[in-house]
Amino acid sequence: MAKARRGGKRSRPPRSGDSGDMAREHWRADGQPKTRFPTQTEANRSSLRLRLEEGADLDPYRCRYCDGWHLGNRQS
Ligand SMILES: [Zn+2]
Repeated sequence: MAKARRGGKRSRPPRSGDSGDMAREHWRADGQPKTRFPTQTEANRSSLRLRLEEGADLDPYRCRYCDGWHLGNRQS
């Protein structure tokens, strides 16, 4: 009896999982990298300034891609 291992063809889904999410945290939609803040404090300060100057409602969040902080649109 030939024990042939079947199912060698595993169709892998394209990489759109974790790495894609990570990259999305770091890059803007237009392909430019987002402004990076080394600390949450600086990101917070900038988000407050943008709110006062431009009325932007941005939340600081930790970026898993570059280990820094970015400002993003508040999602509800
Ligand atoms: Zn980043």
